Amino acid sequence: MTTEPSSDSLEGLLDSARHDYKALGSRGLSLDLTRGKPAPAQLDLSDELLSLPNGRYTSADGTDVRNYGGLQGLPELREIFAEVLGVPVGQLLAAGNSSLELMHDCLVHALLSVVPGAESRWVDQERIAFLCPVPGYDRHFSLCRRFGIDMIPVPMTDAGPDMDVVERLVAEDPAVKGIWCVPKYSNPDGVCYSDETVERLAGMRTAAPDFRIFWDNAYAVHHLTDERVEIADLLAACAASGNTDRVFVFGSTSKITAAGAGVAFFGSSPANVEWLLGNNSKRSIGPDKINQLRHVMFLRDADGVRAHMERQRALLQPKFEAVGRILDAELGGTGLAEWTSPKGGYFVTLETEEGCAKEVVRRAGEAGIVLTPAGATHPHGDDPRDAVIRIAPSYPTLEELEQAILGLTVCVRLVGYERRQGLD
Ligand code: PMP
Repeated sequence: MTTEPSSDSLEGLLDSARHDYKALGSRGLSLDLTRGKPAPAQLDLSDELLSLPNGRYTSADGTDVRNYGGLQGLPELREIFAEVLGVPVGQLLAAGNSSLELMHDCLVHALLSVVPGAESRWVDQERIAFLCPVPGYDRHFSLCRRFGIDMIPVPMTDAGPDMDVVERLVAEDPAVKGIWCVPKYSNPDGVCYSDETVERLAGMRTAAPDFRIFWDNAYAVHHLTDERVEIADLLAACAASGNTDRVFVFGSTSKITAAGAGVAFFGSSPANVEWLLGNNSKRSIGPDKINQLRHVMFLRDADGVRAHMERQRALLQPKFEAVGRILDAELGGTGLAEWTSPKGGYFVTLETEEGCAKEVVRRAGEAGIVLTPAGATHPHGDDPRDAVIRIAPSYPTLEELEQAILGLTVCVRLVGYERRQGLD
């Protein structure tokens, strides 16, 4: 517990924050902490991909990867990621370059063609809603918005979405057709779903017979510490609960090899896989198997993926440590903010006092430090508490990052103390 400063000392704290902010502004910074992009040094780790497949053009079963076909993706690549994503190889597709694209397509197909277990197409229903654990990933929310899907925020806990709320909402409203989940090292708060959360998601009673969990396992192997967090197997738990078709699993190598030039995966029940393949066969004659083959040659096996991710971690971990160290030193004990110390993934969440986040982001922007807009972590960009700021430490160099986080702490102090003064 921190004690509220007296207004005398508040005056002093505010003076020094104003002084530091002025100094910050005069430095002419131009730093960007907006999106979770890998840094060039991380991408360099996969440079070898650029010279592969190096004259080879047949897959293990003799398929000529230069030609059309093979909608399910190369078996040897699916073999590697079956283990990484915890999906039986026969139920895993290796697709294009983007898992977000797969999520988009699943929504479109569910709207326009009947998903297994559905009575009708989603587009024919008066209202469709998705549960959106918050804070969450803005691009999930953009997809809902794009397709007119209502978004119902659900609070996150440190074990995943608040399951009492989830269970109540899915049981009472047949319009609730889905939930967005980033189950491991969640974007943005780094939460890993507990075994109990996974069990409850698998077993809960849903009013909609065609309810789907969009299980976006984007950070499955993206550890930042020695503790390699593992989460329970939702696909198996759904099957064991008799809700076999409930989950769509997504993943990609975007933050393993090359962002936007990797391979995306879809895993699900046999019926869902058949459904997606059937729909995809109208959309494509086959994925980019040359890219899939070069990923097989480069990564080799699941151990190869893990070894590669250790090299990624060596570049990322010092950045996350720097963020934690600076936040501790500058804001620790002030009561102005709290922040996460994620064990993996790509983000740190900074939570300011209520009503401060937008102003902190604005002030930081004026001082040359661009942050993800406050509110982006909530449906419609509306964080009702105006408190959550997502920090993406991966892209800047360590030195730039340190400057940016230090500058951010100045803004948090300035806005926080100004607000407290206003409340006096
Ligand atoms: N899901 C989550 C949770 C993400 O954070 C990201 C990337 N920021 C994506 C999906 C996008 O993945 P892809 O590049 O495979 O489309």
